Amino acid sequence: MKKIIGLAVSSGIAIGYAKLVRKEKLLIKRKTIQNHEIEEELLRFETSVNQVVKDIDILIEDLSHSKVNKEILTTHKMILHDPEFSIKITKLISNELYSLENAINEHFSSLVELFNNMNNEYFSLRSQDYQDVADRLLAHLLKQEKDYFEKLDENSILILENITPSEVTKAFEKKIKGFCTEKGSKNSHSSIIARSMNLPSVSGISKILSIIKEDQLIIIDGSKGLLIITPDEKTLKEYRELFQKEEDEKNKLQKLKNIESRTKDGKRILLMCNIEIPEELEQVLKYKSDGIGLFRTEFLFIGRSELPYENEQYEIYKKIAESCAPKPVIIRTIDVGGDKLSKILNIEHEENPNLGCRGIRISLENIPVFKTQIRAILRANSKANVKIMFPMISSVDEVKKAKEIIEICKNELEKEKITFNPEIEIGAMIEIPSAALTSDSIAEECDFLSIGTNDLIQYTLAVDRDNQTVASYYQPNHPAVIKLMKTTIINAHRKGAKVAICGEMASEPEFIPILIGLGIDELSVSPGKIFLVKNEILKCDLPKSAKEVETKYNLKE
Ligand code: PEP
Ligand code: MG
Repeated sequence: MKKIIGLAVSSGIAIGYAKLVRKEKLLIKRKTIQNHEIEEELLRFETSVNQVVKDIDILIEDLSHSKVNKEILTTHKMILHDPEFSIKITKLISNELYSLENAINEHFSSLVELFNNMNNEYFSLRSQDYQDVADRLLAHLLKQEKDYFEKLDENSILILENITPSEVTKAFEKKIKGFCTEKGSKNSHSSIIARSMNLPSVSGISKILSIIKEDQLIIIDGSKGLLIITPDEKTLKEYRELFQKEEDEKNKLQKLKNIESRTKDGKRILLMCNIEIPEELEQVLKYKSDGIGLFRTEFLFIGRSELPYENEQYEIYKKIAESCAPKPVIIRTIDVGGDKLSKILNIEHEENPNLGCRGIRISLENIPVFKTQIRAILRANSKANVKIMFPMISSVDEVKKAKEIIEICKNELEKEKITFNPEIEIGAMIEIPSAALTSDSIAEECDFLSIGTNDLIQYTLAVDRDNQTVASYYQPNHPAVIKLMKTTIINAHRKGAKVAICGEMASEPEFIPILIGLGIDELSVSPGKIFLVKNEILKCDLPKSAKEVETKYNLKE
C-alpha cells in the first residue's frame, strides 16, 4: 500500500481500478512548406477550422442534454474564431513557411506552456481549453482521432498527466469513479466542472503515470487530496464503509431539497450558491438554492485577447438573472489581480499582486472597463433580482466612487434610451481587515455586505491562501478573524444592512454553528455543498450557538 498527498480538487471517495491514459503526441511529419504552397496551406487552414467548428456544432446539438458540455464547446468555438489565432497561423505559414499542422502545434503549445509556466492560477486556468482545441484540430488534420475513453467502465479511475474540460464531461458520461492528474489546479475549468459533477479528483501528483500501474486498485479521498495505491484489506474496508456512509448521507440530504433553510428556533438563513462560470447555473437550479450569492465574473476577463463587450456581458448576466428570478443574483464586479489582466489592460507586472491593483482598484483605475460591466449589469436587471457587489473594498471612499460610476452609467443609459432598471441593490465585500474595522461607514453606503473569508483570513493572518507550505496557518476560526466578522455583523445590522458569508468557510459544516452564532443572515456556498450546509443550519439553535461563540471568543458587545 502506498499513500500520496496531492491537491484536493474535488471531494468524495472513489474506489476503483486505474486506467492509465498516455496521450501520444500527434506525429507531424511535414514541418515546412515551399513558397508556392502557401496559398493552398491557408485554404486548408480555413477549411479545417470550418470543419472542426461544424463538428463542434453537431456535438452541441447532440449534447442538448448536457448544458455544461455545450458551454465548453461554445468556448472552444470562440477560441477557433479568435481573430488573433487566425493572424498568428497565417503569419507562421506565410512568413515562416510552417506547415499548417506545425503552425497549429507551435501556436497552441507555446500558449499552453506560457500559461502553465506563469505559476499563476488565473492564467493557467484556460490552458486545458487551448490544448483541447489543438487536439481537435490536429486530430482532424492528421486523421488520428483516438478514443482514450473506449476502455473505461464504471469501475475505472482515470490516471493521466492532464485532463481537458471536454474529457472531464466525457469521463463523467462514461460513469467513471474519479480521476487523478499530474498537472492541474483547483480553479481550472476542468476542476470546476469535476466539482459541479461531484466527480472525486486529486491533482498535482508528480510522475503519476510511472507510479501507478494499469488496473491497480486505488482509492481517491478527494477532500483530503489523498491517493492510496493498492490499499491493504483494513484500509479498503474502512474506505468502503466511509464511501457507503457518504452515499447514504448524500441520499438522505437530497430530501432537503424542498425544505427551507431555517435554524431550529426559526431564523431563516438564505442559502445561496457561488458560481464561477455560467455552466454552474444548472446545479443552482437543480438544488433549489435561494439564489446566487456570488457570481464571480473573472471568467469573462481571463485568458482572452480582448475585453468582453457590453452586449456579451449583458447576454450572460441576463440569462443567469432570468433563470433564477425572482431569486436574487449578486453579480460581483471584476476581481482579478493586476498581473492577471495585464494582457488585455496593459498593466505592469506586479511583484505582489495580492497587495497590488486588484479588485475594486482595477475597476477604479480602468473606468471605461468598469462602466461597460456596470451598464451590462443594469441592463440585465429586467426582473429586478440583480444586485451589484464590489470586491476588495478597503475603505468607504472606494464604495462612494464606485457608486458615482453607477449613477453616471444610469444617466448615460437614460440619455441613450436603452432599457435598464435603475432600482438595484449595492453591496460591498468585506475581505480586508480595514474594511471590517470601518464597516460602519461602509454599511452606511450599502444595502448589504458579504464577508469574503478566503481573503479576510489571508489578509488578517498574513498567510497566502494558495501556498500549501503555510496551509496550517490558514485558520478560518482564528479569534482575530471571528472578531472582525463580529464587528462587521454588528455594524451592518445597526445600519439595517444584511450580512452574508460567501468565502469557502461557509461551505464547511464545522463552521456553520459559529457563523450562525455570530448572527449572519445569508450563506453563499459552492453548489455541491448546499445540502450539507442546509443540514447543519437545520440542526443549529441560534441562541445556544450565539452564547457559545460569545463565550469562546470573548465577544461581549
Ligand atoms: C473571498 O475572498 O472569500 C471570496 C469569496 O472571493 P474570492 O475567493 O473570489 O477572492
Ligand atoms: Mg476575495
